[in-house]
Amino acid sequence: MEVCHILLLTFPTQGVINPSIQLAKNLIRMGVKVTILTSLSAIHRMTKPNSTIPKGFTLSAFSDGYDDGFKEGQNREHFLCEFKKRGSKAIAELIKASDEEGYPVNCLVYTMNQPWVVEVAHGYRIPSAVLWTQPATIFDIFHYYFNDYSDAIRKIVNDPSSSIQLPGLPLLTSHDLPSFLVPPHSDKYSWGLLSFKEQQDVLSAEANPIILVNTFDAIEPEALRAIEKFNLIAIGPLIVSSDASFRGDLFQRSLGYVEWLNSKAESSVVYVSFGSIAVLSKQQMEEVAHGLLESHRPFMWVMRAKENGEREEDKLSCLEELGQEGLIVPWCSQVEVLSHPSVGCFLSHCGWNSSLESLVSGVPVVGFPQLIDQMTNAKLIQDVWKMGVRVLANEEEMVDREEIRRGIEMVMGGGEREREMRGNAKKWKELAWEAMKDGGSLDMNLKAFVDGLGHGH
Ligand code: UDP
Repeated sequence: MEVCHILLLTFPTQGVINPSIQLAKNLIRMGVKVTILTSLSAIHRMTKPNSTIPKGFTLSAFSDGYDDGFKEGQNREHFLCEFKKRGSKAIAELIKASDEEGYPVNCLVYTMNQPWVVEVAHGYRIPSAVLWTQPATIFDIFHYYFNDYSDAIRKIVNDPSSSIQLPGLPLLTSHDLPSFLVPPHSDKYSWGLLSFKEQQDVLSAEANPIILVNTFDAIEPEALRAIEKFNLIAIGPLIVSSDASFRGDLFQRSLGYVEWLNSKAESSVVYVSFGSIAVLSKQQMEEVAHGLLESHRPFMWVMRAKENGEREEDKLSCLEELGQEGLIVPWCSQVEVLSHPSVGCFLSHCGWNSSLESLVSGVPVVGFPQLIDQMTNAKLIQDVWKMGVRVLANEEEMVDREEIRRGIEMVMGGGEREREMRGNAKKWKELAWEAMKDGGSLDMNLKAFVDGLGHGH
């Protein structure tokens, strides 16, 4: 029987690249041939110089016209349009070349909110599947919003004191909803809601849509089964390991942070990162900085370096004190940091990858969500998994230093609440590893998906 060949179209953002790489690695382990197709800007984020690409894995890049990456302030509509136009062409070329080489493409997997791929797949009579890189809970919320619960959800958005019980989901207030549903983001980023709608519409029109979700059963048992007509397949947690041939991070690891972590006491360090996209205002950065200083604990803070050489930390008034108490790095191998014994808490924007990585590492979280799914992820962390707390903004929409300090104290301060959170974090860590072990739910569900494609592997 011929080898199963999956073409994986990956959108060029870090939070999507990381689970895509891991999905590919798992498929290759099962004997599947995988080609990751992405734009040039993603390639330098993915490969180490001179690294050998694992067997069975092909990396193919096309220019989406934004070879240095899409930057805030550029025309998003134009970017998405070009990504689609040039991406469709690249898929067509790859399908043709693969046919000629004797490795016909058996399935097109695409990362979420690029539903145009389904149409391309139809054109070649190839099945498609979406790789959903946010929680199943988010999939469900958008499904409910675009179907029977639009008015009910709008009602709680207009009345922040009320809440809604959607089938299979925790009780939600407007505070817990994805930001694209709530002003001001719903007005400012209307493209965001539209992209989720297009994705839902395309899946609804499919007879047997395949939805591969980067989650695992223990953390979202009901959300995975909440919508009868959709079969959500939990193929996570997809965590990029630090020894990977694909680095999945931006910089070489030569920043000395492991040595710095080695010098700290067990569970004493607050690790701080707001992911690869979110930008905090100068005033908000000051509040975080002072909150950290006032908590009197060592911290390691990722402040992304900009390409023009500008450093975020140079905006801060207390840079010298920060340097005395903690370590600032432009990027790190986050999974490696979270699994270091010195790290006791993660002050996080609650991106989905970061949330899964804290689960897998058993590190409690101080959640400081910024946008998109992060509010809902913070809700899961605090109220469902009970392994963290969420900090809240004041009337001026600012999470002030006292609130940051309070959040860190709740997680690190040694009270009953901390014991409960650490106990839960340990439990989730064990369950995550159970899902990832050989023959665990990740393997079983992924294998069932591949078997369903009806090709050898
Ligand atoms: N990350 C990393 N090093 C850093 C900061 C982030 O490797 O210094 C990785 C992190 O491990 C995660 C990804 O970047 O896998 C960020 O994804 P997430 O979904 O958490 O947030 P996003 O960047 O999409 O907002």
